[in-house]
Amino acid sequence: MRQRNPVALGLAVILLLSSVVPAQRRTQSTVQKRPKLVLLIVVDQFRYDYLERFGDLFGPDGFRRLMRDGASWTQSNYDHMPTYTAPGHGTMMTGAYPAESGIIGNEWLDRASGKRITSVSDESVKLLGGLPGDPAASPSRLMASTVGDELRLVTNDRAKVIGISVKDRSAILPAGRHANAAYWFNWTSGTMVSSTYYFNQLPAWVTTFNAAKPADKYFGAKWERLLPESEYIKRAGPDNPSWENVPSSWNDTNSFPHTITGGATSPNRNFYTALDYSPYTNDILVSFAQQAIVNEQLGQDDDTDVLTVSFSANDYVGHRFGPYSQEVMDVTLRTDRNIATLLDFVNARVGLANTLIALTADHGVSPIPEHAAAMGLGGGRVPFADVMGKIQAAISARYNPQKKSPDPTADYLLRFAEANTWREWFINNNIYFNYDALRRDGVNIEEFSNVVVAAALTVPGIARAFSRLQLLRGATSITDPIERRALHGFYPARSGDVVMVAEPFKYIAETINATHGSPYSYDTNVPTIIMGAGVNPGRYLEPAAPNDIAPTLSALLRITAPSNSTGRVLIEALRK
Ligand SMILES: [Zn+2]
Repeated sequence: MRQRNPVALGLAVILLLSSVVPAQRRTQSTVQKRPKLVLLIVVDQFRYDYLERFGDLFGPDGFRRLMRDGASWTQSNYDHMPTYTAPGHGTMMTGAYPAESGIIGNEWLDRASGKRITSVSDESVKLLGGLPGDPAASPSRLMASTVGDELRLVTNDRAKVIGISVKDRSAILPAGRHANAAYWFNWTSGTMVSSTYYFNQLPAWVTTFNAAKPADKYFGAKWERLLPESEYIKRAGPDNPSWENVPSSWNDTNSFPHTITGGATSPNRNFYTALDYSPYTNDILVSFAQQAIVNEQLGQDDDTDVLTVSFSANDYVGHRFGPYSQEVMDVTLRTDRNIATLLDFVNARVGLANTLIALTADHGVSPIPEHAAAMGLGGGRVPFADVMGKIQAAISARYNPQKKSPDPTADYLLRFAEANTWREWFINNNIYFNYDALRRDGVNIEEFSNVVVAAALTVPGIARAFSRLQLLRGATSITDPIERRALHGFYPARSGDVVMVAEPFKYIAETINATHGSPYSYDTNVPTIIMGAGVNPGRYLEPAAPNDIAPTLSALLRITAPSNSTGRVLIEALRK
């Protein structure tokens, strides 16, 4: 063959490149296939620092795989309070603050009925798979669409969206209002349940799963440490410090091993409740998720499906033993294995290359107050009587100066209709006013608000208090992170009239060992990890929030972000 002129060849190549390559690129970008599956993994009550504290003990295929092959944000913080389960789960797939999603707490006061309701309680639907009469649940109170809802819209309902958790709210809220199904664990029956919101009867595969009594095989299980105790002493300290305070009435102990019976002689409600305070419900969830993937054929066609899996055991164990306990360390190591099993399964069935994965948590947790006190950090508990005593005394002094008896101001604050509530008068550190009583006595609400706020601020341990009027007027400062977080957690039709914030490391009217809910970093700093096609792996130091997950997934999926999404697209990790 005759040697061609190299200049001409070069020209030909340039011509070829200029005419063909851009066209190819254009084609690739316009018809690029969406991933087959979006998998959201939530670990309930999981602080970002767990990834660092226990990271050297993780296996290669769980958290470490996500951090290695995905993009991980170290400064990911919730920008709302209260930092509870339902507000967190209402945020991650909507991209919305509770101020937008309406999910302001796990429970709140419903002014219309005078009752305490939950974020997912719904008397118009029935429970499926549990015992008759047990309360059911639905996403009816969620005011924003989710990534799953938007995928259902763009695929004309062909996308399948399923949420799974031990807790009803954690299964229901990330999946969304137009999800195909949400499944959670029922404590009275020990089975996975759903509600008539989604369908009139459970799919056969769920009934089959329940028929095998998957929870009962853990009856009497002895929860031991995965690794030698020396590893735990090094990272979590001794097993039985004075601030771990597990009463014998809970049929549990401060120390390993924990024998899981709940004091029962055979599986019953007490046992199923005890099972929550062990790592084993996470194992049940992984099996159930595998069954969902197989039987619902998730990720098997070109219409992107969504599976959300929220592990709850970490939260129960954390509440009982605290974030610096050997138990939390152990459940974290076991969760690493659960995630490895789930990712391996998804890889085999769908292929990780076809899957977009996000991992986050709904909130962190503070040290047990007595632990924080022992460390000199000012930990403590603000008694209910201190808060209400000061507030009611101030109300009475201002509006009943003649000390009439009975005191006409006695009903100025709203009580809850439920008898068994243990935080009567306020919930989520919100105080609700009784508008009828205030109107009856011609009390000026603005002045009354000021009296309550001023009184609350005299209670030792209360750092801040904001009134409804302040928040609605925008009279709070967006540059003050505490005020901003209070505003982001305030939904006018559902929130109270005064919002209180405790000092760091202090709880208001809480008897539980360890908890969360504050606007402080131990409660707000959680992992945000996204892994999949189009995402540049790495450790990112830019500020981020779980609110950013929904808009970022939407950008990767090339769909409209959910209705109230105000999060940021995490462009620093996206391929152009
Ligand atoms: Zn939670």
